[in-house]
Amino acid sequence: MIPLFSLLQDYFRGNARVHLIPSNRLGRRFSVGLLGVLLILALFGVDAKRLGAAPPAMPPRLVVLVMFDQMRADYLTRWHNLFEPGGFRRLREQGAWFPNCHYPYSGTFTGPGHASLATGCAPDRHGIVANDWFDRAAGKTVYCVGSDRYTRVASADPAADNVKRSSSSPERLLAPTLGESLKQATAGKGRIVALSFKDRSAVLLAGPRADACYWFDPDIGEFVTSSYYRDRLHSWVDEFNRDRPADRWFSQEWKPLRPDIDYGSLSTLLPGERSFPHSLGENSKRPGKSYYQNLYVSPFGNELLLELAKRAITRENLGRKEAADLLCVSFSCNDPIGHAFGPDSPEVLDVTLRSDRMIKDLLEHLDAAVGKGKYLLALTADHGVCPLPEVSRKQGRQAIRIDPKTLSSQIEEFLTATFGQASDNSRWLEAPASEWIYLNQRGIRARGKDPAKIETALAGWLKQQPGILTAFTRSQLRGAAAPGDTIGERVRRSFHPDRSGDLALVMQPYSILWPTIPGTGTTHGTPHAYDTHVPLLIYGHGIPPGSFPATIQPLAIPAVVAARLGIPPPKAAGASVPQALR
Ligand SMILES: [Zn+2]
Repeated sequence: MIPLFSLLQDYFRGNARVHLIPSNRLGRRFSVGLLGVLLILALFGVDAKRLGAAPPAMPPRLVVLVMFDQMRADYLTRWHNLFEPGGFRRLREQGAWFPNCHYPYSGTFTGPGHASLATGCAPDRHGIVANDWFDRAAGKTVYCVGSDRYTRVASADPAADNVKRSSSSPERLLAPTLGESLKQATAGKGRIVALSFKDRSAVLLAGPRADACYWFDPDIGEFVTSSYYRDRLHSWVDEFNRDRPADRWFSQEWKPLRPDIDYGSLSTLLPGERSFPHSLGENSKRPGKSYYQNLYVSPFGNELLLELAKRAITRENLGRKEAADLLCVSFSCNDPIGHAFGPDSPEVLDVTLRSDRMIKDLLEHLDAAVGKGKYLLALTADHGVCPLPEVSRKQGRQAIRIDPKTLSSQIEEFLTATFGQASDNSRWLEAPASEWIYLNQRGIRARGKDPAKIETALAGWLKQQPGILTAFTRSQLRGAAAPGDTIGERVRRSFHPDRSGDLALVMQPYSILWPTIPGTGTTHGTPHAYDTHVPLLIYGHGIPPGSFPATIQPLAIPAVVAARLGIPPPKAAGASVPQALR
């Protein structure tokens, strides 16, 4: 057995924040409410047609946004017959299912996906172009929700931890959120609760006006928040933490949920590839950081989060007060599992089957606590994932791995060979190469070189490299895409001039740019269908059941929710309510 976290260790060491949590209503009221809504529409200049649907006779009491971190749309069709009644099947059979749901941009990562779901716009508007990017003003790489101004708020006795831990905030989010629309329309009465294992998922869904925003800190094994939101934990979170529920799986193994299913015949195992069971606490005497990290790369982290979500619904009386409430729950563990084992593995099948059971559990809890038909639930994912290159090759596709460190060195060599060495030996790149390449602009000017020429030369070189499909320069991205250039259009929707690099590179389909143990793991973050194609299920509160094959974006969710609540959609939201739900 291989300890789970070791599968991702090299990657976390190099790029710890990319995937690991840092160490870091209306009866009499309705007529009044409707008047308020009309007034708000007038004040905001919102065209009722843009809302796409007349406000329903009685808005939902609670809106639940469920995000799975890394779930491809095909999982729901591939394994449909293995799902039990009441989970994904209930959503698909009794709700609206959109089998052709794609993100419209190339940077299909967790930060951009959650920011897009919260704001209804793409990274070119909300500014979360990646999980991390190089901030030229600060001269350093910044994390999308990282903040030095705020500190971690935890249950642990502050006297036992003298180090003030920097924490998270949504201050880099440049577009207003669905939660802000709800707060404005309900005079602050509608409550927002956002929960996840990853801080960026909770914070970006929560936005700036959340009442409760919590994520898991693997350093201490409990759910925490930031002083940006509040100075003390809610009592229900503190009580939850003090029971140490995360420790329940210590020294347990992750075994298949369904021994009656032949996982091997439903997945593609490579020769000699490891599989179940997986140990969670093998190398430690008591639950500590390594165990909590293993919990993250197991389905049990999701189960822990579901417990907290149910606690939040009950203790916050969500959906049972005057105004509608918003609950956002983002299940993170599917992502590290998919990275470590790939989308065709028994592990991804297992965590998806367990996710189905969790959805059943959540729906039953909502039925009891809020009432059937009184809540609206939208389920999607922040991105998909590329198959392991080895699996792709087995299927006859060309697929290679490129290590970002190697690529960075090769870029340095090419630019030095072409344009000469700087007298001060300064580097050509300001940050390691990723989907965005940041040139050392100051250094280039100091050498008297024209940055545009260097961009063009480098783009030409990149396009010739194996595994790379194409590259775009900043000046190209500032202009419109050529007609029919779908890839170019998607890259432009990820481009923010103040935050993106000078070049965007796009990998060949099925090849990956991935810093991990050589020969293992996979990733996402491209404009290709395996990364952009995600599930979209909208259920409850009069949503018509059916399968709607028209192409749609997850960015339509804020417009759908706003129309159902009879409130304006977030100001920058671009996608409108799909025809099927008008
Ligand atoms: Zn990921």
